[in-house]
Amino acid sequence: MKLKFKSFFCFVLALLLAALALVPAGLSEPPYTKYSRRALDIFNTEITLMGYTRTEADFSQAYEDTLALLRRFDQIFDAYNGYEGLNNLYYVNRHAAEGPVEIPEELFSLISWCKEQWDKGLRGTNIAMGAVLSIWHEYREAGLADPEKAQLPPAEALLAASAHTDFDNVILDAEKQTVFFADPQITLDVGAVAKGWAADAVLPYLKEHMPSFLISLGGNVYAGDPPLDGRANWAVGVEDPRPDENGGGLMYRDIVDIHDLTVVTSGDYWRYYVVDGQRYHHIIDPETLFPSTKMISVTIICESSTLADFLSTTLFVLSLEDGLKLIEGMDGVEALWMLPDGTEQASSGMGQYLRSLKNAGGAQ
Ligand code: ADP
Ligand code: MG
Repeated sequence: MKLKFKSFFCFVLALLLAALALVPAGLSEPPYTKYSRRALDIFNTEITLMGYTRTEADFSQAYEDTLALLRRFDQIFDAYNGYEGLNNLYYVNRHAAEGPVEIPEELFSLISWCKEQWDKGLRGTNIAMGAVLSIWHEYREAGLADPEKAQLPPAEALLAASAHTDFDNVILDAEKQTVFFADPQITLDVGAVAKGWAADAVLPYLKEHMPSFLISLGGNVYAGDPPLDGRANWAVGVEDPRPDENGGGLMYRDIVDIHDLTVVTSGDYWRYYVVDGQRYHHIIDPETLFPSTKMISVTIICESSTLADFLSTTLFVLSLEDGLKLIEGMDGVEALWMLPDGTEQASSGMGQYLRSLKNAGGAQ
């Protein structure tokens, strides 16, 4: 009995001590503060990380760790530069026709995900279209460097290259993690999906280190849990593709309110060059081999940033009718199309996110 009483007393004392130890620690812990920082040297675009940490040092650490991950992905997905000791996309494009090349798991995962979409019949975004895309890339770069001499690629060259864009000729071996090109002239360009994939790939790290964050990779946004300032959602702007025609200066045409979702926009105003007074942008229609003129921007909202990036490019080259059919048949995916005539079309569930539709009473 005596012993029992003693141990009970010890237990209570231990509890008290533990509580006392916790109180000052809890009181001295600084509150969460929102920080934001941006980088311009990765993925050839602007990367912004916004998030809550208790100290600025914690934020800096999270930011640097995130950038280190993104830098690695940028090198792996780079189709135009090689890096010592890394079998990146540039290396693959030069050597995968000679025999199977073992590649980093990040690259294998992205190529095989894209191949699954191809096998499902989704072919508007074809990362095996590198032969065609690299011609446009070359002419665009030359045209930007010397605008007076800007030229369009010859149609015959595009047509000849398009004979080498069949994804079935990209042979993957999941066990050995290799890629092999059965067509020696086929090449890959993952520009249409790399930023989305990268956004998804840093999420586990960000979720572990911040209670709430938003990351943007050049128009490719993932919004985590709601901000800690009492708002139910993060507000993300949908850019106006034609700010000058619409009075000028207005950067955003609309706003989406989201959390734990991604919003990705593909537009004809991001990357383009001008030939004879006409703009030629960077999203190529696999049917015409020319920049698609069906849309001026397409915005996708869903959980996966990889899927959103893939679909924003896909819908950009599909007709509105085909795009609508595709999106309405997918669970948890919404889209907003902006057409060249200035009109907009939203998928049936877009009203829950899009502010203009909410204000118009289009959704609860
Ligand atoms: P952004 O890079 O501006 O976010 P996208 O996600 O739509 O835009 O990707 C455009 C990039 O994808 C181009 O720069 C090019 O490398 C590649 N691309 C263009 N058209 C296609 C296509 N039809 N299929 C696959 N990749 C494409
Ligand atoms: Mg895309």
